Amino acid sequence: MAVSYPKLPLRELGNTGLKTSSVGFGASPLGSVFSPVSEEDAVAAVREAFCLGINFFDTSPYYGRNLSEKMLGKGLKALGVPRSEYIVSTKCGRYGEGFDFSAERVTRSIDESLARLQLDYVDILHCHDIEFGSLDQIVNETIPALQKLKEAGKTRFIGITGLPLEIFTYVLDRVPPGTVDVILSYCHYSINDSTLLDLLPYLKSKGVGIISASPLAMGLLTDQGPPEWHPASPELKSACQAAAAHCRKKGKNISKLAIQYSLVNKDISTVLVGMNSVGQVEENVAAAEELATFGRDEETLSEVEAILIPVKNQTWPSGIQNS
Ligand code: NAD
Repeated sequence: MAVSYPKLPLRELGNTGLKTSSVGFGASPLGSVFSPVSEEDAVAAVREAFCLGINFFDTSPYYGRNLSEKMLGKGLKALGVPRSEYIVSTKCGRYGEGFDFSAERVTRSIDESLARLQLDYVDILHCHDIEFGSLDQIVNETIPALQKLKEAGKTRFIGITGLPLEIFTYVLDRVPPGTVDVILSYCHYSINDSTLLDLLPYLKSKGVGIISASPLAMGLLTDQGPPEWHPASPELKSACQAAAAHCRKKGKNISKLAIQYSLVNKDISTVLVGMNSVGQVEENVAAAEELATFGRDEETLSEVEAILIPVKNQTWPSGIQNS
């Protein structure tokens, strides 16, 4: 049964000239990293997303040891639409077998990714989770290598991703303006952790596009709860569980509330939600649509925020600098 929603709004992605849909498709679940996903479901989810106005798809060789890139590639090919109608980002430097941000590895990596994605170019190539490498290597070796890939037409833009927010200022303060086009931050703009907010003026002053990922805090803000590997503390996990239970008791859905919370801030060009089925795509697009029509459920939001106060902005260590 086809569901019809108005197209999602598009937002400018920094100075790239790209216009990304407010909800972006996070393809890590297509690598079966949360739960097993069939090829049929993956391809159908990508199709439904595109049909409902999602034009931005994010993946990485790391997600499911290349599986996410392969599944996304199949889904995009099956759309049968011109390449210019969708925006794809993938990443380099983080792999199933570990980290390698050397110029040689990332240069090889893009060709491998393009083959799996069945594409001639990606729109954005991110250095993936740079806190696990030497940030000086990222500045002096990895990003210059990515600039060569940009000149060669294999990627249109360059990005950096990771968890600790300091990595973004460290790198952006050390590269020439316009070298890094976008940043991807995750788990820092959701109901339980909104620390990305403080960095937004700085990022805007640098002209970089801002992608915020994991509005559901990688499963913490869902009814089914996070996967076993989730790095949050037991305290944070149980507070989020209590918040989800509170919403259920009221006949509300914590995931909808969480996606709407992230979507409200228009300085964020796109909110990347991990999705693995047609049903999830429809729910998340409907959440965006409801937000535009009716606004947020402020009452439930403040109740959930009150439950989460003891763990507000609690995060977890990530990377070699912090571990
Ligand atoms: P997320 O917060 O988006 O949560 C994803 C989980 O929630 C999955 O299990 C998904 O199936 C489930 N879900 C989605 N919609 C739902 C709904 N309506 N109801 C209930 N459950 C729902 O976390 P994520 O997938 O880790 O992040 C989104 C995307 O952002 C990733 O897929 C990836 O593309 C990107 N990302 C990048 C980095 C990085 O570069 N370091 C880190 C995290 C995420």
